[in-house]
Amino acid sequence: MLVVMKAQATPEEIQAVCDHIEQLGFRPHPLPGAQRTAIGITGNQGEVNRGNLESLSGVAEVIRVSKAYKLASRDVKEEDTVVRFANGATIGGRNLAVIAGPCSIESREQAFAIAEQVAAAGAQFFRGGAYKPRTSPYAFQGLGLEALRIMAEIRDRFGLRIVTEAIDAESLDLVAEWADLIQIGARNMQNFSLLKRVGRMRKPVLIKRGMSATLEEFLMAAEYVMSEGNYEVILCERGVRTFADHARNTLDLSIIPALQHVSHLPILVDPSHGTGRRDSVLPMARAGIAAGADGIIVEVHNHPESAFSDGPQSLFPEQFATMMNEIEQIAPVVGRSLARGATSKITAEASGK
Ligand code: PEP
Ligand code: MN
Repeated sequence: MLVVMKAQATPEEIQAVCDHIEQLGFRPHPLPGAQRTAIGITGNQGEVNRGNLESLSGVAEVIRVSKAYKLASRDVKEEDTVVRFANGATIGGRNLAVIAGPCSIESREQAFAIAEQVAAAGAQFFRGGAYKPRTSPYAFQGLGLEALRIMAEIRDRFGLRIVTEAIDAESLDLVAEWADLIQIGARNMQNFSLLKRVGRMRKPVLIKRGMSATLEEFLMAAEYVMSEGNYEVILCERGVRTFADHARNTLDLSIIPALQHVSHLPILVDPSHGTGRRDSVLPMARAGIAAGADGIIVEVHNHPESAFSDGPQSLFPEQFATMMNEIEQIAPVVGRSLARGATSKITAEASGK
């Protein structure tokens, strides 16, 4: 159920409707839009009696949302969601967002060397795994808290926003404390208790599509987070399992327009995990932007041949700079522009510093 407020409804009227929904034993989710505020109602098993709600002051109409996902749906919020970060960076909206960095944080030296190069090329976000969900228990599991500390130093030094994965409740509490954007990996996309816990955080969340998740299952993962009151959700297509064996996964770019049709949430593309091959990463990054994605998350390594994880799909820093130039050229064709970070050499040169 969805309560659509009149365009001129006051904050007091919106609050009164939320209070009324709570008194009925349900949960109100006020989602302000450009034209009007809509209030999603969750927690109800069946129909909510709409009569009383419709008679409240400031209410335009009460409508039934028929889709399984509600708060993630465009029925509840027509305008695209834009997630904003402290350094002015955004994900969603006109500007393309770029998240770059190694699969895993391996050492302070490695992380700083890569961060310096991706910042110089204009990335605004730095990624790096501290807790790694590895197929083998014998593979590198991540440096944990030490990696989070290194990334916090990188934020201070380069002004990059930090993105890192939480794999369980324990790592989530630490990631939420240290990072700017909490990543939930493909393997945890349907870890519902973890999703609920992320929903109780007040920090943006990046949810990667599960390897065999349908569009609806993907959006239901977002819904789990949003139903707990965290509305800053970003989706990420990272490839799905198919019969194809020329690549690690099949990057399903067709989900971008399909998601944008039904959901207001931003969607990024991960051409690294989506292909598993360095030589395919640039073409698929270009294709992702051309298909309308809100940005790219990509793995970059200064010595990929000796990387602790995902070396074969990691770009060399020079290739990342090329990727930035290429997507910058594609951006205007799809009504976008590339926002380069403050420490970007290109920004500094252009401004004559
Ligand atoms: C990663 O980003 O390093 C990662 C493990 O991604 P995914 O969950 O998409 O496999
Ligand atoms: Mn990886």
